[in-house]
Amino acid sequence: MLLYFLSDIEHKYLLHQLLPTAREVGVSKELRGWSWYQPPLKPYYDNVKLPMYAASSKYCPTNRDVYLRNVEKVYPRLSTKVALGKMFHGVVSDCLQAFLQQQPIDFEGWWQKIRWAEIPEKPENVREPSKKVWEFMSKLCEAKLAEVSSRQPYASKYDVVASALPFLIEHKISGELLGLSGVLSIDCYDYLRAIMFDLKMAREQEEWYRLSPVGYAMVFESVHEVPVDICCVVYLNAENGRVSVHKDLFFASDELRQWWIEERDKKLEIVAEGRDPGKPTRSQCKEWCMFFDACYG
Ligand code: SF4
Repeated sequence: MLLYFLSDIEHKYLLHQLLPTAREVGVSKELRGWSWYQPPLKPYYDNVKLPMYAASSKYCPTNRDVYLRNVEKVYPRLSTKVALGKMFHGVVSDCLQAFLQQQPIDFEGWWQKIRWAEIPEKPENVREPSKKVWEFMSKLCEAKLAEVSSRQPYASKYDVVASALPFLIEHKISGELLGLSGVLSIDCYDYLRAIMFDLKMAREQEEWYRLSPVGYAMVFESVHEVPVDICCVVYLNAENGRVSVHKDLFFASDELRQWWIEERDKKLEIVAEGRDPGKPTRSQCKEWCMFFDACYG
């Protein structure tokens, strides 16, 4: 359950497979985020800005969710699945932030601050998996800090933290150059290895989950003008009280970048033109879709 830390095997895969591929194959210069001012990255519509999940999501086969939220201004129904996803994002980011700020708090202190009115789930059903994730993260952070501290006895406290936990967590960044919101929030960016992480509450791996971190990689390139070649989707699953994590570590290739641009352009067009894309066949809609009531209520 290493979350944003790489295991020995993942590290070998990064060094001997992904980075050599990224260096050999490379990324076309027009698909780097810093080429935002020219096609294909330049957004066709200037007057629409979307959040990253709208630009990258493929939950709805026709993208009607994007139309309902951004044109009709329908407020999504917070399903249990989505609410729990938000909560586990909070467990991971709050625990890491506490270590980064050198103000560790224990799980009980964090648990007391949860606003249960916003979470459609009984506390007793999510307490154990949340506690497991929190305690595992805490132990891992303590071990990493102790390891770096013992290797570099003259390093300042700040330097030890910056080297042991090289993460920007919930990093705020503007996606405006790429047609996105000005207040995006990145789950995690490892600034020593230049890896863009995206945390997903899901059990099954999906190819399109790669779109979001690829989009963030290009946003990062557009703002900071540094290349981000490697991305990772971290799958966190906490069903039936059991917690499991697996990672999809990959090269942010030209194909993935082009795919993200196509998706962004389709969604920008729907919103800019105010065009209802219609519903797919009924069997393609899941009852946990946040817009199910709006479409079938
Ligand atoms: S209910 Fe179906 S058509 Fe409506 S937003 Fe959800 S997936 Fe799309």
